[in-house]
Amino acid sequence: MATVKIHPAVDNGVQPGKPGFSGGTLVCHCASDPVVVEIDGDCLHNHVCGCTKCWKPQGAIFSMVSVVPTDKVRVVQNEQKLKVVDPSALIQRHACTSCGVHLYGPVTRENHPFTGLSFIHTELSDEQGWAAPTFAAFVSSVIEGGTRPEAMDGIRARLNELGLPPYDALSPALMDYIATFTARASGVLKD
Ligand SMILES: [Zn+2]
Ligand SMILES: [Zn+2]
Repeated sequence: MATVKIHPAVDNGVQPGKPGFSGGTLVCHCASDPVVVEIDGDCLHNHVCGCTKCWKPQGAIFSMVSVVPTDKVRVVQNEQKLKVVDPSALIQRHACTSCGVHLYGPVTRENHPFTGLSFIHTELSDEQGWAAPTFAAFVSSVIEGGTRPEAMDGIRARLNELGLPPYDALSPALMDYIATFTARASGVLKD
């Protein structure tokens, strides 16, 4: 089963996070003048993602992505190299225009449940101890990225073996969170 590759950070087993981890520094892949981003505090909702939009390392089927409050994100070097990949997307993924790595992706849309959060990739940091991934999102979407449909049973089995239950959207907890936000916004839920 270990022959099914998911992402380099989990292929040899998911590394547990350190309780009380205080954050770290994300660095893009440029050999010179890299973009450097400081994250103040641990990440939340870390997971592997099968969508075609998240940045992933060469050869990986999944990305590994998590969120932090946007006010905990600070670009400290070479901000001028960053450009938003798709300004019309919910997640404003800020990519390095030289190496292509996504440094952070804030959600700024008004009245969206994820507004105020930024998506990050903790593998861009040398620090060990970030909260570990706990599920796999948008798993079926890897087919849109070029994975053969016949490979899906093996991929889902490997994700379960790694302790990353596979979902074809977000995890039930996050789907409930979004639906609760929407129900409150529409007045269906009163409190
Ligand atoms: Zn770069
Ligand atoms: Zn994604």
